[in-house]
Amino acid sequence: MFPGVRFKLELWPMLLGAITWPNQLACQIAIGIVMGSLAVSFMVVARQNRRLNKEAKRRQQFETALRTSEAHYRALIHALPDLIMRINRAGIYLEFLASPDFATLPQDASTWIGTHVADRMPPNLAKKRLDAIKKALTTQMTQVYEQNLSINGSKQVEQVRVVPYSHDEVLIMVQNISDRSKAEEQLKHDAFHDQLTGLPNRSLLMERLELALKRTKRHPEAQLAVLFLDLDNFKIINDSLGHHIGDELLLGISNRLKIAIRETDLAVRLGGDEFVVLLEEISDLTEVVMVAERILETLKLPITLVNREIFPSASIGIVMYVPENHHGAADLLRDADVAMYWAKHNGRGQYKVFDPKMHQQATQRLNIESNLRQALKNKEFLIYYQPIINLKTQQVEAFEALIRWQHPEQGLLGPDRFIRIAEEIGLIVPIGEWVLQTVCQQLSYWQVKCPEQPLKVNINLSVQQLEDSFLLSLEELLTQHSLRANTLVLEISESALVHNVDATQDLLERLKHRGVGIVIDDFGAGDSCLRYLHQLSITGLKIKREFIRSSEPDSRHQVVAESIISMCQSLGVKTIAEGIETSEQVAWLQDVGCDLGQGFYFAKPMTANGATNLLTSFHGSILG
Ligand code: C2E
Ligand code: MG
Ligand code: MG
Repeated sequence: MFPGVRFKLELWPMLLGAITWPNQLACQIAIGIVMGSLAVSFMVVARQNRRLNKEAKRRQQFETALRTSEAHYRALIHALPDLIMRINRAGIYLEFLASPDFATLPQDASTWIGTHVADRMPPNLAKKRLDAIKKALTTQMTQVYEQNLSINGSKQVEQVRVVPYSHDEVLIMVQNISDRSKAEEQLKHDAFHDQLTGLPNRSLLMERLELALKRTKRHPEAQLAVLFLDLDNFKIINDSLGHHIGDELLLGISNRLKIAIRETDLAVRLGGDEFVVLLEEISDLTEVVMVAERILETLKLPITLVNREIFPSASIGIVMYVPENHHGAADLLRDADVAMYWAKHNGRGQYKVFDPKMHQQATQRLNIESNLRQALKNKEFLIYYQPIINLKTQQVEAFEALIRWQHPEQGLLGPDRFIRIAEEIGLIVPIGEWVLQTVCQQLSYWQVKCPEQPLKVNINLSVQQLEDSFLLSLEELLTQHSLRANTLVLEISESALVHNVDATQDLLERLKHRGVGIVIDDFGAGDSCLRYLHQLSITGLKIKREFIRSSEPDSRHQVVAESIISMCQSLGVKTIAEGIETSEQVAWLQDVGCDLGQGFYFAKPMTANGATNLLTSFHGSILG
């Protein structure tokens, strides 16, 4: 019987005795025995637990070892070749061992024994095998190569290891690596192609370009050209319709591009909305221009995306390979990019052929851009003033403020050299703010100096300046210099306004309400401008120089100018003619009732001091 059970039986009379006997000692003995018996039971249980734990641990270790060995085994199976052959130095098959699912296992393997490698394989593969056997036996080192086979119409790639077995025999181990090779091919494809469009990417282009350059150097009669294509307004589509629509558009464009080029040409997506087409073996520029025109035509057709018709357009830069200028692929791409930039800035939707002058100008532009950032801080801007004459009274009614930049190296630069760049890089707002401040200061000086002359100043504004903050600064400056709002006239070019009618309408309304004059500058260029005339709050209209310049009476330009003037008269809008250069033009404009005029005939833009002299010496009368 187990000791714990015996103790328990002996315990009962003792316990009963401890209750009935008033003897304390007997009671303590009984408790002692109970505790002792319990302790022994615990020890027994603990020992059994320890044994069980040990057992469990051993089992766990055993299972881990089993799993590891299973993994090793599986790895080993995978690493095992599908086919092992023993072949002697002469190329005679001696023995075969093959996995059952190995596709190239000869069903009649037994009949192969004793035959020669050359009898069993195509000559090129047999030669490869015999060479490897020879080399393995001479060097006593394993030789590895890959072979491509076509088995039942499908391509199979095998890795062949030729292991020296004795001084005269080798073991040839063959493994089907088609899956691995397919995965590697996919990786290679991904590395050289764009994921979205499937077109080749920049890496592949650079490789192909370098190869093409080498070929063209060897055969200079076959020329090489690169087309750099950038979609127009892609950012607007992406931002307004969403990125997935942008992606669909890119996909559509890449498909059209493939159609527009020859099979031998390479169309590449560089990234974003930039594409490149590489044209090889072309005869001359005319051929390239034809491709560019075909691409522009193909892209122009509308694409329907989410029930919306989009009319894509692109700007293309063309560069022909010139050995002296293009030492590598990067040089060609750079020049094509520069030409594309010119196409874009020349009005988009067109192509431009690279000319080395473009490169110089692009470098100059970069210089201007970096200097422009310092110009405000270095106080390099100044304002010239050109008088605007009342054509009836011949008195100076206003000055147009025209910015100039005293460039540290290039001398005095006109706004055409830097305003557009300032707009593009977001500097036009602080520059415009400086113009407004300077003009207000000058105007208040003139009001003190020539109080009898009610003078206005016209300021040119870029659309980016038409923000609420502009109105705030304007209010502050008017108060600071004690100026009336109607002494300021804001000129905004027609082309800029037409593209931003909705965005600017409210602010223009508020400015007009405040009393500030608003003039549409360079009017007459666009054909959609007339319908905005009643919509926009304008006080004046400046007729584009081209319409004034014509010397022939009743020319088309004169007729347009006259109808603009009469239309403005009926709308109560003042007309200003710019670019007046002759007395005949003045006479004609006076005759047709144009209100104001400006031009070299009266005066060229002048410094602030020059303008003050004009005001004080001639009392504002331009004819003295
Ligand atoms: P715009 O506002 O149309 O200015 C008139 C331009 O024509 C001025 O050129 C002026 O010098 C020139 N001009 C005036 N009369 C004649 C003439 O009889 N014959 C000829 N051939 N030209 C004449 P400028 O100063 O080079 O200004 C060019 C443009 O730059 C301006 O055209 C205006 O759009 C812009 N601009 C000037 N200052 C600023 C400015 O502070 N801010 C902004 N955003 N643009 C400005
Ligand atoms: Mg102007
Ligand atoms: Mg103008």
